[in-house]
Amino acid sequence: MIAEVVVDVLAKQVNRSFDYSIPTHLENILKVGYRVKVLFGKRLVMGFVVLIKESTDFKKELKPIVDIVDVFPPLNEEFIELAKYIADNKFSYYASSLQTMIPTALKIKYQKIVKVINKDLISEESKKIIGNKKELIIDGKSPLELKYLFADVEKGYLGLDTKFKKTRNETLIDYVYVLDEEVSGLSKQGQAVLDYMLEINEAIQKNVLIEESGYSKAVIKTLIDKGVLGVYQKELLHSIDYNVVSKDKVSLTDLQQKAFDSVKLNEAKTYLLHGVTGSGKTEVYMAWIDEVLKLGKTAIMLVPEIALTPQITAIFKSRFGDDVEIMHSRLSTFERYSAWKKIINGDVSIVVGARSAIFAPLKDLGIIIIDEEHEKSYIQENNPKYDAKEIANLRSIKHKCPLILGSATPNVCDYYKALNGEYELITMPNRVNNKSLPECVVADMAKELKQGNKSVFSKALKEELIKCYHNKEQSILFLNRRGYSSFVMCRYCGEVIKCPHCDVSLTYHNYNNTLKCHHCGYEQMNVLSCPNCGSDKIRYVGSGTQKVIEEISNLLPEAKVLRVDLDTTKKKEDYEIAFNKFKNHEADILVGTQMIAKGLDFSDVTLVGVVNADLALHYPSYDATMTAYNLIEQVSGRAGRKDKNGKVIIQTYQPNHFVIESAKRHDYNDFFNREIKLRKMSLMPPFSNVIEIMVVSADANLAHTEAKNMLYAISKVSKDSVILGPAQALPFKLADKFRFTIQVKVLEEAVLEEIKKIYPMYQNNKDVDIIISRM
Ligand code: ADP
Ligand code: ZN
Ligand code: ZN
Repeated sequence: MIAEVVVDVLAKQVNRSFDYSIPTHLENILKVGYRVKVLFGKRLVMGFVVLIKESTDFKKELKPIVDIVDVFPPLNEEFIELAKYIADNKFSYYASSLQTMIPTALKIKYQKIVKVINKDLISEESKKIIGNKKELIIDGKSPLELKYLFADVEKGYLGLDTKFKKTRNETLIDYVYVLDEEVSGLSKQGQAVLDYMLEINEAIQKNVLIEESGYSKAVIKTLIDKGVLGVYQKELLHSIDYNVVSKDKVSLTDLQQKAFDSVKLNEAKTYLLHGVTGSGKTEVYMAWIDEVLKLGKTAIMLVPEIALTPQITAIFKSRFGDDVEIMHSRLSTFERYSAWKKIINGDVSIVVGARSAIFAPLKDLGIIIIDEEHEKSYIQENNPKYDAKEIANLRSIKHKCPLILGSATPNVCDYYKALNGEYELITMPNRVNNKSLPECVVADMAKELKQGNKSVFSKALKEELIKCYHNKEQSILFLNRRGYSSFVMCRYCGEVIKCPHCDVSLTYHNYNNTLKCHHCGYEQMNVLSCPNCGSDKIRYVGSGTQKVIEEISNLLPEAKVLRVDLDTTKKKEDYEIAFNKFKNHEADILVGTQMIAKGLDFSDVTLVGVVNADLALHYPSYDATMTAYNLIEQVSGRAGRKDKNGKVIIQTYQPNHFVIESAKRHDYNDFFNREIKLRKMSLMPPFSNVIEIMVVSADANLAHTEAKNMLYAISKVSKDSVILGPAQALPFKLADKFRFTIQVKVLEEAVLEEIKKIYPMYQNNKDVDIIISRM
């Protein structure tokens, strides 16, 4: 038999599979999805078996597979297809696509062992190899030895397993389970412990057993020594205070019921659930999941990483108990692995997690839900680039189940598809309690400045903060901060310096006092006065977290302030601690970045302030406006959720910007209509495919030359597509390499085909790296 193997060659990856012969001892063991070791050239490399077949077109003698890496296949046909799709359509490598789908723990060196299951039935040859041991490390055994062992594995007399090396930071604890209940000659105490174990009928922490059964350590040790109880080690899961409250199951409101009824559960179809903040989308999601479980199927729900709060966890845990596995990035490698293993084994039916949870190996999916579907975090930027929404769509088709995209502020492209009938639109325009959305006040910061207010707070925000504090209510101040980006804005009239060619804001570069466009490469000297009004109050804009904290302490010295941003929540638990503090009203004002915008449901919050809305509006990307609208709408959704009325204050230098105007009225449709017109005019998605080609080299001139060559090649086949660049990327120098980008608004198949040729062309080029991504 022959295996097609995708080799994982690291330097310049080879984007195809190769044929290897399967040695006889592996013939019945090896299946699609296993990882193997093979010789590639003269090197021993890892590879994935993607197909097993009878014959090959290869003319010379095939090399045999050297070794098998796994004890069970970590992937199956479905995932191999998905990886192929990613490789073909996302300008990614096949091997790295396969790699993303398996848990990191499996990439760490581990040992393979065989465990004796039935001592009496294994072959004489195997017995000789294993001796008296209960388990044996098989790495490094000869093919002949393996042949005997694997023959017994196949018959079920031996079992294959893995042994991870202990890593320092993991806290391993002992679990015990009943290994052999037939052992005779037990003491009375021993028998009692055994009976206790048989009654609970599951593995239990050794310490817990000692505590619960009331018997001594020695009794349990004897049982282990006699082989009555087995022991294994498991990493201690960090127990998070989930605040699990057993809430009564609510009955759906009419709107929720209508939304619920709109979805057909046995059919592949994409639905866009457009429900305002507080419309009770989560409850509808859970109702669908309930229904799916009744059908004996499984469910995936994706939420943005930053929304994987204790809150959503608590809701799902109290509703579905052990049936749900929550996968967030703060799980350790081994927690992640054990979750994945539980899913593979079919021990859980629901997976709630961030982006990568879309690859959860659940069988028989009945529904896929993507909450906050407008979030960019569903797109993985590289290694490989993929869009969880696209993967979800493929899985929905494969499993013939619905895909639900939910949001209060849908992605413009998805809403466009819903209006055109490609998706089915479901709307929930009202909040569950029929409360109106919070009143929004726009503070014109340019005007405030003219009136002599130099503070980061407008008059209105100051007044409301004081009022809120005196009413013993809570407020949230939202600060936008977007990494290295800074742009130049007139604090007098709100004018932002933009690229004359691209209509995105120019980025300020401190070192040579210039302004640059990161799409087309346009560059000019920084300005000293505003080209619109002549004012010299023109400067670049940063976040100002520190200043905000200072001003609060001047304004309300008694108020307790809690700061939540990436800097203050580095450790796993920090976020939960802050969250619970605020929930318990141990702080009056929460100051934070994007992290606090999503999903939080605090009943005492009546005021939300967006301190610097402009920073979101002018991020140099075509969808900055969409992101800004989302952010404003999401943060304002945090105010007045229970019985008290909420108020939102948006501070901006451009009160008449259409995003501010529509967000103020919570009018998504108005926002959408204006935005889609702009997209159409500028040929941006959904009216084109925007592809970015990044050329990277330690030699800046070489990168520039290669980029120009590519630009030339693409221009030659293009009639209508728009090609911009080469421009210096943002940042230009990264890890000692220089980066140029070309941006293409692709309107023709020929251009796409030309772009697909680029990777193979640079495959063997040691000096130039190419990264191609779809925006
Ligand atoms: P969304 O996700 O659409 O912003 P949520 O799902 O957070 O809204 O729901 C808002 C609030 O309304 C939550 O506190 C939730 O418990 C409550 N809720 C949802 N559905 C119902 C219902 N049918 N009856 C009573 N309360 C509900
Ligand atoms: Zn430009
Ligand atoms: Zn001005």
